[in-house]
Amino acid sequence: MDVLISGASIAGPALAYWLGRYGHRPTIVEIAPQLRTGGQAVDFRGPLHMGILAKMGVIDQLRAVETGGIAFRFVDEHGARQMEWPASFAGGDLEVQRGDLARILCDAGQETEYLFGDRIAAMDETPDGVDVTFASGLQRTFDLVIGADGVHSGVRRLTFGPEETFVKHLGYYVATWPIADEWGLDTTLLLHSEPGVMMSVGGNHKDPSKAGVFTAFASPALRYDRHDADQQKAILRERFGGMGWLAPRLLAELDKVDDLYFDQICKVDAPEWTRGRIALVGDAACGATIGGQGNGTAIVSAYVLAGELAAAGGDHRVAFPGYVRRIQKFARGTQEGGDTTGRFLAPRTSRGIWMRNYLNNQKWFLGLISQVANRRAADLDLPAYPL
Ligand SMILES: Cc1cc2nc3c(=O)[nH]c(=O)nc-3n(C[C@H](O)[C@H](O)[C@H](O)COP(=O)(O)OP(=O)(O)OC[C@H]3O[C@@H](n4cnc5c(N)ncnc54)[C@H](O)[C@@H]3O)c2cc1C
Repeated sequence: MDVLISGASIAGPALAYWLGRYGHRPTIVEIAPQLRTGGQAVDFRGPLHMGILAKMGVIDQLRAVETGGIAFRFVDEHGARQMEWPASFAGGDLEVQRGDLARILCDAGQETEYLFGDRIAAMDETPDGVDVTFASGLQRTFDLVIGADGVHSGVRRLTFGPEETFVKHLGYYVATWPIADEWGLDTTLLLHSEPGVMMSVGGNHKDPSKAGVFTAFASPALRYDRHDADQQKAILRERFGGMGWLAPRLLAELDKVDDLYFDQICKVDAPEWTRGRIALVGDAACGATIGGQGNGTAIVSAYVLAGELAAAGGDHRVAFPGYVRRIQKFARGTQEGGDTTGRFLAPRTSRGIWMRNYLNNQKWFLGLISQVANRRAADLDLPAYPL
């Protein structure tokens, strides 16, 4: 089958890999002009995530670039330690930079055709396929179309309606951008919270000259153009303008940045994940911007979607309901981890910051969150699909 996937991040390339392996012809259309390599470290945990990465044959490549875990050290305005998540705790079983993961997954799917700098403008489903018109004017017909285009999915909007219906703002925004390491950070992420704002800078284990800034701030939903980085930079300058610690230095770097990642922390709950020949996978179906194990869930969902298609001999009318039945509860469980990410990073009051630091300095508390995360990450009986 010819399968069009919208979005070349994690879910899209992972799905394309499996479809290629089952003998289909996957095409990925990505709105960005090239592969987006931004973002911070992301982790995989437990036998389910690791088992699928092993089946994909990418463990060696991932191990070659793994961070080994990055410690989260919260500090006060003078740089004194307040609380710390040790590297072994934050990094799961395998932690890599998001950009490295995206690149390795794209390289793994050798049969995949990529259309960068384009997007689906219109879709018309017929009994034989889906006629797709791209923003560039290109027109092609595919057997299936899959939306792997994240929390602001275009396929979801075209198929199921406007984003407001499915996306719940969770009261915070996040942003990341690169910077040179002037602090000798190595594998530590230094974070500083003031009420409602958090700024951090972390080292890059592969290249000690590089570092990354990661920020979060509390805010009701904002009106801004998601494709206008200058507007987003202006919001960041305004929100972090009064912050102490290293904030003025980290903020000044924004003038030079051309790969800013800026998004609301939100939760996607699309009640329908499939309609006719169209389906959603990854964050487009059930995402949490950060903290909801989005990468692990994307890998698992891609494997199951392709596997169900194979098991049904390519009949999407059988495969799509099977995919939803198997994945929905699992994905909604992992997604819950994202509900508290904003509050953890940037509590709104000084008392909230104190309480966060106190609790996270307790071994029993870290043990508890680790247990919950590990349980959610493995809470699925994975069928063995024919290969
Ligand atoms: C640049 C970037 C940085 C990130 N940084 C982090 C991070 O530091 N920590 C973390 O936990 N998570 C991060 N995430 C989110 C994380 O990648 C996802 O939660 C998870 O991997 C699930 O991935 P996904 O492929 O479903 O969606 P996403 O990773 O969100 O990818 C969606 C892809 O679709 C593309 N796209 C969007 N709209 C369209 C359209 N209309 N047509 C075609 N393509 C479209 C996007 O450009 C993107 O490449 C980041 C995502 C991106 C895109």
